[in-house]
Amino acid sequence: EAHISRSCSASTSITEIEDRSKKVINFDHGDPTMFERFWQKMGDKSTVVISGWQLMSYFSDPKSLCWFLEPEFAKEIVKLHKLVRNAITDDRYILVGTGSMQLFQAALYALAPPDASKPIAVVAAAPYYNSYPLVTDYLKSGLYSWAGDAYTFDRDEPYIELVTSPNNPDGYMREAVVNRSGGMVIHDLAYYWPQYTPITSPADHDLMLFTVSKSTGHAGTRIGWALVKDKEVAKKMTKFIELNTIGVSKDSQLRAAKILQAISDNCQHLGNHDDGKSFFKHSHRLMTKRWEGLRDAVRQSGLFSLPEFQPRFCNYLDRVAEPHPAFAWLKCEGDIEDCESFLRGHQIITRSGKHFGADSTYVRVSMLDRDETFNLFLERLSHINS
Ligand code: PMP
Repeated sequence: EAHISRSCSASTSITEIEDRSKKVINFDHGDPTMFERFWQKMGDKSTVVISGWQLMSYFSDPKSLCWFLEPEFAKEIVKLHKLVRNAITDDRYILVGTGSMQLFQAALYALAPPDASKPIAVVAAAPYYNSYPLVTDYLKSGLYSWAGDAYTFDRDEPYIELVTSPNNPDGYMREAVVNRSGGMVIHDLAYYWPQYTPITSPADHDLMLFTVSKSTGHAGTRIGWALVKDKEVAKKMTKFIELNTIGVSKDSQLRAAKILQAISDNCQHLGNHDDGKSFFKHSHRLMTKRWEGLRDAVRQSGLFSLPEFQPRFCNYLDRVAEPHPAFAWLKCEGDIEDCESFLRGHQIITRSGKHFGADSTYVRVSMLDRDETFNLFLERLSHINS
């Protein structure tokens, strides 16, 4: 059909315009396809070839605490954190997981007391990442259970608090809010990278989670990592992954290692970060442009509002920068009560605020889709008015 319409121009453009206005824009998931273009340009610098006889063993490093962690990948993790200065890796155990989602579950398993009379409460300040309650409760564990918004948690008992910083969905930097004795904290730092937020200091928490899904855009590789201070916690998390999936794909770890290496190489060799080869510089520029476009579209429409962010000094970019989160936490203003259905009426699929412990005047919009789709979204949003 595309071929046919392209060859006969007059009637074609009308069809194309109609197609454009009918196309459903799905921004429900945070699929990071925006980064594909950068990696296409990188060419073979990020290509991995694995022969049939390679990587066959279950084991990567039998003597290490995390015996299924590829040493090559661990080395690249340390190198990248030192370069970006977003997390301290010294005196930490590095663990690998099938996405940070597996490591999140491993952390719950490791932190929950094994023989308590009831499951330990798991909380996060609203609005929180909607997968947390779902993943915490889907197996109805006897070890841990979801206890809702950390701001209203008032039980005098041990708890696990999830701190996502910058936060999914609203993009703000976060700190623990409960701060009571008997509390344990998991820091999900999936978005603590220069393209999303100024890097103000290296994160130095007991248990930190990262993922290639959001740092480099390789969500399909399903690789995350944890930096863990306490040896017993690191051991138990490793045990969880051993019981759950007997380790983590070596193929994926080597691919992730190669990707991180490509980023480090290109950033290190740049005196001038402005070179389009620097992944974070390049992505930061794209995110800046997208957020500017979004704020313009919201202004034009007049029906929505967005969070405002304070610029901070970014140690990586070496200048003051504004946050540009991976999601836009969009609010419908006026008398629109259900922002998700309202936008669905305009063929824009988003995720309602109610899934995040907020109300339905909010929706979460992915900022990481491909250029064509994102531009179509801006065009459509700017024309929505009362
Ligand atoms: N934590 C947060 C805050 C996320 O937004 C996501 C992905 N949307 C994840 C974890 C899961 O990441 P992964 O693909 O590494 O499992």
